[in-house]
Amino acid sequence: MDSQTLTSEATTIFPGTAGRHYDGMFSLAYENMTVASLKDGRSHYRCVGLGTCTKDEALHWNNHVAAGDETYDVIVVGNGHASCKVALASACLGAKTLSLTLNIDRIAWQACNPAVGGSAKCQLVLEVDALGGEIGKTADRCYLQKRVLNVSRGPAVRALRAQTDKREYAIEMKKIIKSTLNLSIRKPMLTDLLPGTNDGVKGVRNFFVMNFYSNFVVLTTGTFMNGKVWVGRTSMPAGRAGESASHGLTENLQPPGFETDWLKTGTPACVSSRTVDYSLLEPQHGDEEVHWFSFDPTYHIERQQLCCYFTRTTQVTHQLIKKLT
Ligand SMILES: Cc1cc2nc3c(=O)[nH]c(=O)nc-3n(C[C@H](O)[C@H](O)[C@H](O)COP(=O)(O)OP(=O)(O)OC[C@H]3O[C@@H](n4cnc5c(N)ncnc54)[C@H](O)[C@@H]3O)c2cc1C
Repeated sequence: MDSQTLTSEATTIFPGTAGRHYDGMFSLAYENMTVASLKDGRSHYRCVGLGTCTKDEALHWNNHVAAGDETYDVIVVGNGHASCKVALASACLGAKTLSLTLNIDRIAWQACNPAVGGSAKCQLVLEVDALGGEIGKTADRCYLQKRVLNVSRGPAVRALRAQTDKREYAIEMKKIIKSTLNLSIRKPMLTDLLPGTNDGVKGVRNFFVMNFYSNFVVLTTGTFMNGKVWVGRTSMPAGRAGESASHGLTENLQPPGFETDWLKTGTPACVSSRTVDYSLLEPQHGDEEVHWFSFDPTYHIERQQLCCYFTRTTQVTHQLIKKLT
């Protein structure tokens, strides 16, 4: 449902901006939700990141949503890979948990190459699965290719890697986040930590100067804090390609003594598949015998795999790049 299609049948549309709407039985403040009161007296609900939904689903998606000043057991800043793990662990242990993100539509979004596992990371995914986490199960459900790396070498350096379907992975993980009890999601950008006693923290403040209180705050902000993306010689503020950086938090963390710096991530150029002559490339097929991240066999469902292709830069490519830059 969008405002356009509903206008003819709706008597009132409450757009998804922060504000309160009294709807008979309940009063909500929401900024991720649109409610339209229809002529026949029913209400129509739609939430950002969820779409058209029932009232119960809307309430659950926006559960605990109010205009700030709420208290949580744990606040997790971010909703990427790391945040999903922390927030799910916290909520599943029964802690009332708030996850703050810049973009609800990008929950569990994988930056650039959507690979899970691989060298030095595969064992982490297995350990998280053994502890009841979701990354391994979701990667097993959404893989496009699975491969054990370094099979010609000893077992110590072998590592399972999955190339996953980026969109499917995010959709599946969002479903899990959405249906987890004790877990609330809020969108506005966090800009400050509220200092507590004895060097502790008592909460966070967001861009709209709303406070959320908790003695436990976990920052999993990925590449977003004052993030920069370089393309050729040009740089621009960005969290990930196409997403805004977050501002304010870095500046506010520095005075109490936190050190901040940038780490660089290198991303190969993305090219259109239609422009590549695959006959000149070395194919890399997935494993015939598929290995799994999750220890739970109900997730071991084989899928059709895609082929990856190898190529390398040459002296000619280097010359070309030098000439262009
Ligand atoms: C262009 C690019 C390409 C990359 N390519 C790869 C790759 O190929 N392979 C790889 O393994 N890694 C790659 N990375 C690194 C990648 O960022 C990490 O692997 C991984 O995504 C980090 O996960 P994370 O959960 O720590 O953070 P992210 O997934 O980055 O999530 C951070 C979360 O914090 C939220 N957030 C940030 N600041 C605030 C704030 N102030 N208030 C509220 N919410 C906030 C964001 O909305 C987001 O939900 C790449 C990074 C970039 C930028």
